[in-house]
Amino acid sequence: IGEKMKRALITGINGQDGGYLAEFLLDKGYEVFGMERRSSTKIRVNCQHLEDKITFVNGDLTDQNSLMRCLKESDPDEVYNLASQSFVGESWNTPEQTGDVTGMGALRMLEAIREYGKEVKFYQASTSEMFGRMEQYANEDTLFYPRSPYGVAKLYAHWITVNYRESYDMFNCCGILFNHESERRGIEFVTRKITDAVARIHLGLQDKVILGNLDIKRDWGYAPDYVEAMWLMLQQDEPDDYVIATGKFHTLEDFLNHSFKHIGVTDWSKYVEQNPKFMRPADVFYLAGDATKAKEKLGWKPRTSLSEMVDRMVKNDIKKYHEKSVYY
Ligand code: NAP
Repeated sequence: IGEKMKRALITGINGQDGGYLAEFLLDKGYEVFGMERRSSTKIRVNCQHLEDKITFVNGDLTDQNSLMRCLKESDPDEVYNLASQSFVGESWNTPEQTGDVTGMGALRMLEAIREYGKEVKFYQASTSEMFGRMEQYANEDTLFYPRSPYGVAKLYAHWITVNYRESYDMFNCCGILFNHESERRGIEFVTRKITDAVARIHLGLQDKVILGNLDIKRDWGYAPDYVEAMWLMLQQDEPDDYVIATGKFHTLEDFLNHSFKHIGVTDWSKYVEQNPKFMRPADVFYLAGDATKAKEKLGWKPRTSLSEMVDRMVKNDIKKYHEKSVYY
């Protein structure tokens, strides 16, 4: 009582993680500001339900002055930099734009914070794609070896965040998050592409789903579990970097098994086709994380299993078509 309400600015508010983090922070009593860029049609798919609870501010990570204005409007205690060109596949098509938004964007926000002058805690959304070609469980000491323009851009953002912490004594943390999915995952990502297709196959709207490499292995967590880790990092006495992962890896075939099981199909071979078009020029075959440090220092652990998550995703996609609230 009497304590000032904390204020948080989230970039990438309309993405998968933005809405979950906003919900989490509102629950903690924060005043939340979400940065979004202009779009010709406003569809806040993930945030519509938050429209009267948070304040939207206009800004773009490629526009330095707009970031300064967002800081002035929101006067935050904490900034969560979640915005990025986040689709790995797309980063080969638009490598320069990916570097500009995903890499330089973090630098611009850090510079804006420095210029703003007030002490602001900063969270950078780093990624397991920075490890890229890895052969064992990755932790905070594992060598980085990104395998995509996206991974390379994220590595720049990661190191500049660390460098500004060391150069200017800023309270900056990087969360090196392994893949996390949810009902709000963008439709172009393979997990959501599958659950959406399974829903459509179940409802007779589609015959099959065409995928790239089925042999990839990933450490898939549930996004709402992961946003808690972002917040925990900024509540510590000292800023630091943490790997966030489930520590379990699954193949895409496992993901397909769980998804089709939801609609009562055990042999899904006639519904799935492979096409090299969806394979990456340089893929990452194996990714699993060791989140021991986060467990010990933050007291964080994942709560949701892969099968629970996949169930929620397929169920949600079926419901979406039933309600005819189809956005895509
Ligand atoms: P997402 O759904 O792709 O959301 C990214 C958001 O960034 C979008 O809302 C997008 O806005 C916004 N954005 C793109 N370019 C921008 C620009 N120039 N200026 C301002 N905003 C811009 O990503 P996510 O899954 O929520 O992930 C959050 C962050 O964590 C991202 O940085 C991602 O790279 C990183 N990450 C994700 C995972 C994962 O598995 N999900 C794992 C590790 C790290 P529009 O809505 O206008 O397009």
